[in-house]
Amino acid sequence: MEKLKLAIDVGGTKIAYGLLNEKNEITYRYQTLTPLEIMPEEFTQKLCTEIDTVLKQAGCAQEQLAGIAVGMPSYVDYENGIVVTSGSIRHIKNYPARDILKKRFSGIPILIDNDTNMAALAEHRCGAGKGFHHMVYVALSTGLGTGFIVNDQLFRGSYGGAGESGHMLITPGKGITDGCGNPGCFMSYACGSCLVRHALLAIENGASTRMTEMVTDLSELNAKHIAEAYRQGDALGKKLIEQLIYYASLHIYNLFIAFNINCYVCGGGLTNMGDFLLERIQEQADLLNTQENQKIYIKKAALPGDNGLIGCKIALDTAFQ
Ligand SMILES: [Zn+2]
Repeated sequence: MEKLKLAIDVGGTKIAYGLLNEKNEITYRYQTLTPLEIMPEEFTQKLCTEIDTVLKQAGCAQEQLAGIAVGMPSYVDYENGIVVTSGSIRHIKNYPARDILKKRFSGIPILIDNDTNMAALAEHRCGAGKGFHHMVYVALSTGLGTGFIVNDQLFRGSYGGAGESGHMLITPGKGITDGCGNPGCFMSYACGSCLVRHALLAIENGASTRMTEMVTDLSELNAKHIAEAYRQGDALGKKLIEQLIYYASLHIYNLFIAFNINCYVCGGGLTNMGDFLLERIQEQADLLNTQENQKIYIKKAALPGDNGLIGCKIALDTAFQ
């Protein structure tokens, strides 16, 4: 009987389920929407019900299941299996998700970790970071998050919160806040949601831009419209994407200077804007980099969409050998 591991990648919009075999192949997929206003108890209830559905539909008996891993878009206390805070699912705070799942699926190894950490593991073992001993996964997404691989291992830090480098301050007290409480962090310039907020602010202040013609209501404006405005040569689109490129490259450069890690694998929705984005971030980082013979490698994620699931499987392999 082939043993399978269940990976659950909880994102800001959807929850992806995948059953993976020992070759890290996804043999079954299932997907539902993430209810952002859900209460913690309902959330674990939803996960339990959907896990049952996945096992049933895939014809996988519970005895065949060798582990369950959940990647959360959250600050996770990995050792204790607690979801400390979650930016997108805001009612989940200090929630012992692992112990609650353990009660329902007793005897099955279960782990909970941060979703960006899972993506970092996958890209390092089987994606764009393969062969590098140290690597940072950079999620250029709705938010800006990182996952650190140091000496071929995932680095979680003292409290499990390593990878919050998007909230490092670059213009303290200036600009907008992404909700972390400190205006002027890297994320407040270099993520999808803040990109949109900068655009809306500029429009409110009278900037003329093609973006207003792209949507019937400004509440529909998203990063894709801003990228399209940039491609069409729109002045505001250009200004905002240039700003994003500048702060994203500064963020990477500062990490390089602090840790001397040379490989940065970038994934997340913003990388779909086009190859120009990472090419320009590479160009800017190279301009900042004065270290002779120390190249900074900025690469596009090789497993977009699946790195969250594959990372969950690898995390289970590592934790329960
Ligand atoms: Zn922040």
